[in-house]
Amino acid sequence: MYIIPRRRDVLVLTAWLAPVVWEGTFSRDILNAHYMQKNLVTGVVTFAVKKYVQFIEGFMSSANKYFLTGHQVNLYLFTENPEQISHLHMAPENHLFVIPVQNHSWWQDISMSHMDIISRYICSQFQYEVAYLYSIDIDVQLFEHIGAEIIDTLVGTIISWQYTARCESKSYETRTESQAAIPKGEGDFYYTASFYRGSVAKVCKLTRACFKGVMKDRENGIEARCRDESHLNKYLLYHKPTRLLSPEYYWDEELSQPCIIQVKRMCSVHKDSKK
Ligand code: UDP
Ligand code: MN
Repeated sequence: MYIIPRRRDVLVLTAWLAPVVWEGTFSRDILNAHYMQKNLVTGVVTFAVKKYVQFIEGFMSSANKYFLTGHQVNLYLFTENPEQISHLHMAPENHLFVIPVQNHSWWQDISMSHMDIISRYICSQFQYEVAYLYSIDIDVQLFEHIGAEIIDTLVGTIISWQYTARCESKSYETRTESQAAIPKGEGDFYYTASFYRGSVAKVCKLTRACFKGVMKDRENGIEARCRDESHLNKYLLYHKPTRLLSPEYYWDEELSQPCIIQVKRMCSVHKDSKK
């Protein structure tokens, strides 16, 4: 019999009854045993073009060590330099698939096409290979285990600044001309586009809907204030996530750490190193 300690200092269940995962709210042993029986293959999609190629090594080695350890993971790396990747050593249960991607002329285009590329590859490849799909930024490193507690049908990660004083620094798109517009006063949480996931079918629907919104905005000569992240937030407002991850799962290292963040499992790499 396991006794699961409860957190009383943070929200652990949303108003629509989705769990919010924090350190101390689950037993990874129980979850691992449960998911091991299912023999699930999980996919991770990440992009590394232009100067972001420098983050491949740090991301891959830390993901190999800490991401769904013991479970089979397919890592799908979209990059313009596939020939540079051959030296990466993968854990025996992980497989790396390097997929060449064209060099887009400016960053906005890469950002805008992520959703499109992911949805197209889901149809042509991923849906036959994995049950769940995760989209993760490459400019991150994992420092602690991220395990079966993150598996669910549609999962969003709450952005770090929601738990700091800098709450106003980013927010929803409110201009009604944008497809990403969220009416003033609405919105549950602000979710990061750096880490979202779900069943392959749900991620397909999400990425398609977001890309449709991006394209419609482009036709109308408007760009949502946080680009695909704004569209993701709109989508997750009207398609409630079945599970939320606390910012322990993607902590912004530029923010000071409040005491409710007991573990930093995955963190952004310092922005200076992108220059
Ligand atoms: N990206 C890339 N090359 C670029 C810009 C972005 O490969 O020149 C990819 C990379 O995977 C990155 C993701 O797009 O992690 C999101 O961009 P970024 O990390 O700059 O967004 P932020 O975390 O600042 O919102
Ligand atoms: Mn990033």
